[in-house]
Amino acid sequence: MPIKPEEEAQIAAAREQSSATRRATVPALEEILFTPLSVLDHGFVRVIDYMGDDAAVVQAARVSYGKGTKRVSEDKGLIHYLMRHRHTTPFEMCEIKYHVKLPIFVARQWIRHRTANVNEYSARYSILDNEFYLPAPEHLAVQSTSNRQGRGESLPPGEAQRVLDLLREDAARSYRDYAYMLNEDEGGNVVDEKRSGLARELARMNLSLNFYTQWYWKTDLHNLLNFLSLRADAHAQYEIRVYAEAMIETLERWVPMTAEAFRQYRIGGAQLSANALAVIKKMLAGEPVDQAASGLSKREWSELMQVLGR
Ligand SMILES: Cc1cc2nc3c(=O)[nH]c(=O)nc-3n(C[C@H](O)[C@H](O)[C@H](O)COP(=O)(O)OP(=O)(O)OC[C@H]3O[C@@H](n4cnc5c(N)ncnc54)[C@H](O)[C@@H]3O)c2cc1C
Repeated sequence: MPIKPEEEAQIAAAREQSSATRRATVPALEEILFTPLSVLDHGFVRVIDYMGDDAAVVQAARVSYGKGTKRVSEDKGLIHYLMRHRHTTPFEMCEIKYHVKLPIFVARQWIRHRTANVNEYSARYSILDNEFYLPAPEHLAVQSTSNRQGRGESLPPGEAQRVLDLLREDAARSYRDYAYMLNEDEGGNVVDEKRSGLARELARMNLSLNFYTQWYWKTDLHNLLNFLSLRADAHAQYEIRVYAEAMIETLERWVPMTAEAFRQYRIGGAQLSANALAVIKKMLAGEPVDQAASGLSKREWSELMQVLGR
């Protein structure tokens, strides 16, 4: 379970509070504010705070004194125009803050996104929970032969079970030894008075990468879209993609017009090289085209055919 009963109570208490403000609020996002959206076996993502809405993007683009919004169709057209032409700074006017609980190996990929503000749970200061990620059997797969950075077919059931057993045993053993080295229980009480116990900042090095960490992660809408376009993509590792997908759900609640433009021009769209464009022009003109004469590598050709659904 990703959330302990006392944490649930804190979230419920936070959700009881509300305050009057002149600033923009978004009812659909307020509905899930603070509420964890479950991801993987023990992880979650929850929105802690946000600033701005679709109107704030429009307002900034028009450098307006008042609300800056016009008719819905005009605002929508403007947001689509900004997205299409990569006029990105109006999107930087909105900010969002998440609380994320994620396995350490996912955090290592996530932290590469430098344009965010991050504060991570301190395992120098606190004891990490005994929670580690175990993939569902269908996500245990062989190394991909076509993509060196990916996975292929699922493992046969017998092998998957053996892998799961190893992952569980190794993680359980490393946590048991972590606890032994600390010589403290989760409440910070000494377990064995006759032993000293190792500092938390050192004992943590024994934990494997599938243990969960947590952080607050704040970014602006422009950089959030960059993160989501890379991590919700089919090429991203499944374990980070599921976080990006949960965050897209929050994006759709928060800024529905921007989310629609994002789906249209970034997630659902495609970028074409000059050679790829020349191939499409030839196809449209009914001229014969093949990979060898196209100037595209085999991989680029197959990616283009995939984009074109051929
Ligand atoms: C499928 C996939 C595979 C990957 N594989 C690898 C890998 O094998 N090895 C690896 O190391 N990484 C890998 N990465 C990480 C990737 O190279 C990026 O570091 C990561 O996606 C962050 O992207 P970003 O720089 O656009 O994001 P951010 O750090 O948020 O930056 C956003 C934008 O700000 C600008 N920016 C930020 N900081 C700087 C800077 N210091 N200098 C110049 N411009 C800056 C850039 O325009 C950048 O696009 C992979 C990522 C993906 C999605």
